[in-house]
Amino acid sequence: MKRLIFLGPPGAGKGTQASVVAKGGDIAHISTGDILRAAVASQTELGKQADAFMSRGDLVPDELVLGLVKERLQQPDAQKGWILDGFPRNAAQAEALDQLLQGIGQSPDFAVNFDVPDEVLVQRLLSRGRKDDTEEVIRHRLTVYREKTAPLIDFYQSRQKLVSVDGNADVEQVNQHLTSLIS
Ligand code: ADP
Repeated sequence: MKRLIFLGPPGAGKGTQASVVAKGGDIAHISTGDILRAAVASQTELGKQADAFMSRGDLVPDELVLGLVKERLQQPDAQKGWILDGFPRNAAQAEALDQLLQGIGQSPDFAVNFDVPDEVLVQRLLSRGRKDDTEEVIRHRLTVYREKTAPLIDFYQSRQKLVSVDGNADVEQVNQHLTSLIS
């Protein structure tokens, strides 16, 4: 369980589970959303370019995200393993990740799909209250997820890397199921 891709809609609980699993396994938790939000907050060049896309709930352009993932995967703490949380998010990113990993002689062990009904997602995100968590932006993020990200479920299934968890259970149950699948 050293190299994992967490797939799933916004609000599915990927970030929560990724933190726990990464800590337990002493591997890097790489959340592109967190990295981008930090860049926006500190107004780096990356942050300035990403801000408008994120506020609308659109994907940030691939080249911006790919650069940061490439850099992050090369850092020392990622050498023991990693969880990619929120990346890849479309077919082009998945292809680019393949190339990138091939170049460094790595491959993912599993892609974990977090399955949660839409109405549960909307309620969870509304109660979270992040800047991009207004109902309109949430609905748009879900549409973007269905159009761009959900097809990656088949992509990893066809490579026999896919496992699925019911993300609508409580945090502890999801964690137990996840751990049993990936260990
Ligand atoms: P959520 O899963 O709740 O939507 P994230 O923190 O994963 O939250 O992402 C928040 C926003 O950051 C996304 O709506 C998108 O604008 C941007 N983002 C994060 N990861 C990516 C990515 N891999 N490619 C493009 N944009 C991304």
